[in-house]
Amino acid sequence: MINMTRKIPRPYNAVRGEITRCTTLLPRSLTLRARGACNGARSSRPVQAGNSGASTTERLRRLAPAAGSLQGVLLRLFPFAVFCENQRYCTRSARVCQPRFSGKIPLSGGKNVDEAAASAYNKEKYPALSPFEAPQKERYMKQIILTGDRPTGRLHVGHYVGSLKERVALQNSGKFDEIYIMIADAQALTDNAEHPEKVRQNIMNVALDYLACGLDPEKSTLFIQSMIPELTELTFYYMNLVTVSRVQRNPTVKAEIQMRNFEASIPVGFFCYPISQAADITAFRATAVPVGEDQLPMLEQCKEIVHKFNAVYGDTLVDPQIILPKNQACLRLPGIDGKAKMSKSLGNCIYLSDSPEDIRTKVMSMFTDPTHLRREDPGHTEGNPVFIYLDAFCRPEYFPEFLPEYSGLDELKAHYQRGGLGDVKVKKFLNNVLQAELAPIRQRREDWEKRLPDVYEILRAGSETARKTAAATLHDVRHAMRIDYFEDNNLLRKD
Ligand code: ATP
Ligand code: MG
Repeated sequence: MINMTRKIPRPYNAVRGEITRCTTLLPRSLTLRARGACNGARSSRPVQAGNSGASTTERLRRLAPAAGSLQGVLLRLFPFAVFCENQRYCTRSARVCQPRFSGKIPLSGGKNVDEAAASAYNKEKYPALSPFEAPQKERYMKQIILTGDRPTGRLHVGHYVGSLKERVALQNSGKFDEIYIMIADAQALTDNAEHPEKVRQNIMNVALDYLACGLDPEKSTLFIQSMIPELTELTFYYMNLVTVSRVQRNPTVKAEIQMRNFEASIPVGFFCYPISQAADITAFRATAVPVGEDQLPMLEQCKEIVHKFNAVYGDTLVDPQIILPKNQACLRLPGIDGKAKMSKSLGNCIYLSDSPEDIRTKVMSMFTDPTHLRREDPGHTEGNPVFIYLDAFCRPEYFPEFLPEYSGLDELKAHYQRGGLGDVKVKKFLNNVLQAELAPIRQRREDWEKRLPDVYEILRAGSETARKTAAATLHDVRHAMRIDYFEDNNLLRKD
């Protein structure tokens, strides 16, 4: 065992910790990115790892000063490997934080960097990565989902087709290592500051809707945003990387400011919510964010923040990808009043928890094609909410069950377009479709309503788990920004 601390000459960072075991194959020569401890300047240069006669640990030790630190060497070798005792993966070629090295370092990732793995390196898939990095990435890059909803009301069918259905499918696909589903109460307060009660009451409503749709607390971590104070601190740092004019140009923010009549007096918190959303996504190192189309500008803004942060402070944050619904009709489901988006705040929703009677009343009162006044008039199906809902919800098996005289949706649309098909008949069919889709969800919700203490416990435990993840990321962020002052004695140095 070698204590590295005293052997690494200044001005390089030393790592407090010990190497206990290293079984990896080291390449003869490495190009290491050196980072000076004082000014953070970087340069790249090839470094000789030494001959193979020396032990791996000894060669690692020789490389350390040239890399700026032992961290530099380890990162170059195992950018995606498991480094730390608590089994958190280092998913990026990010700097590894010092606390992860305090105590003993099990270099479990090293085992996999052998020649067989290197030869399995797929050049096409990872053209930018070295033969050492690619297999590691393949093996260790964690797939993580983060998404959520504001507790401003019960969830509606727009949420279901726009995001919830996809989340449940992704959850059950088994392709994701971690799934975080956030009830965004802090974000809801940005435009509901005077109605905290509304936000509080809807937390359980949203949680019940989640469980009713099939989100499984065994597979997904359900949590409450404001219970994770680390998110606020991340937001505060990210604010420095975004300009006011950039937020002003965000089309979703623009539309929402207009919708809420905030033009003259925008609450600062509301204005900044895209930045706080970037904090939410990056705190969980999300690789995938399944959301509706209105969130596209938010994701773009988040990616910009990630790139800026990584460029300024070093590769730390994970670049997320948006997952939009594949069905065009689900991208942004219109309201029953024909407005461009069904939204809790606009009160134009069919809620997942609506009674069969409510659903029927809402469907029969739905906005349709205003030019289709009489049954025999030719009608428009494009932009007609009733047909958009059918595109979003109808399955082929519903025709033989509820409308056997038509073979499918195309035939129904063709009839409507040429005239002779009344709105009432189409609406009755839509009502049957929605009733069939929503009945099992309503039933599951009723079951969970009888188990409110369990729902409470799911949120409490989920928030606890989520907080640990966010705290680890915040730690990395503070380290990258070199504001983790008391983690080392750098403040005492004169150089
Ligand atoms: P609010 O009016 O309070 O903003 P909302 O109805 O817009 O509420 P959010 O909580 O903002 O709902 O959105 C949660 C998720 O649901 C987001 O991913 C959003 O894209 C998606 N979503 C919301 N409304 C729709 C819709 N009408 N069609 C498709 N997806 C939607
Ligand atoms: Mg919204």
